[in-house]
Amino acid sequence: MENKIKEVVEIIKKSKRTTAFTGAGISVESGIPPFRGDGGLWNKYDPIVLDLNYFYNNPKESWSVIKEIFYDFFGTAKFNRAHEVLAEMEKQNYLSAVITQNIDNLHQEAGSEVVHEFHGNSKTLVCTSCGKKYTVKDEIFKKLPPKCKECGHLLKPDFIFFGEGIPQIAYQKSIEAAQNSDVFIVIGSTGEVVPASQMPFIAKQNGAKIIEINPNESKYTSQITDIFLQGKAGEVLDEVMSRLDKIS
Ligand code: NAD
Repeated sequence: MENKIKEVVEIIKKSKRTTAFTGAGISVESGIPPFRGDGGLWNKYDPIVLDLNYFYNNPKESWSVIKEIFYDFFGTAKFNRAHEVLAEMEKQNYLSAVITQNIDNLHQEAGSEVVHEFHGNSKTLVCTSCGKKYTVKDEIFKKLPPKCKECGHLLKPDFIFFGEGIPQIAYQKSIEAAQNSDVFIVIGSTGEVVPASQMPFIAKQNGAKIIEINPNESKYTSQITDIFLQGKAGEVLDEVMSRLDKIS
């Protein structure tokens, strides 16, 4: 492992443009479970509440589950060492951008500035009729489902539900980053969620070296990963950062 970390540090140092691509796994050490696998959210909750049609037809029921998962539970999570290291790497010009599938806002809270949110963000609600956006505060949930103060229509979390398209700007910027990076660090993603899962493949096709950090193998590992750092994101990235610090 030590040699692999050294090799990765050399690659990052020489890179002209490194991008990180993060999945639910990077937030596991913050106490947010992934969707799938052991302890995954879909073992406990029915994902139907995030189906767009179901949400519109059953807003009260959907909102009570959504509030429990994404606001009472996720809402209190704090960023961890992995988020911190990516923010630090950006400050030291080792990292150009983060593409994240996560909706928890923890990259921004840790200090990352260039973050392309592929699936949106849970910290904002959006009116399903007039499009007005609201920053989440407790009082917004006093009565469920929450309604727009301007037009009275239903509010929805500003992340994408099953059946919704990817936010256009985040999508374009993610593709551009994948096409133009020479190093792509894939952290904590199974690679099961399309089209986000295509980003590492696009990067590979455009000549990027793929570095993967995950305690378990993913769809990427045997297909496109060049260097697999098997372990928890916080621990592995902490080692990478301490070696980068020694060099700079
Ligand atoms: P996933 O739930 O399908 O898989 C999680 C991956 O993380 C697995 O490969 C697992 O081995 C790995 N992992 C577990 N612990 C880890 C650790 N400590 N360090 C590094 N990796 C670890 O995740 P996915 O591929 O991101 O796809 C799920 C979808 O669910 C995404 O679209 C995402 O938007 C959403 N999601 C987001 C959050 C969040 O915002 N934090 C949480 C759950 C799900």
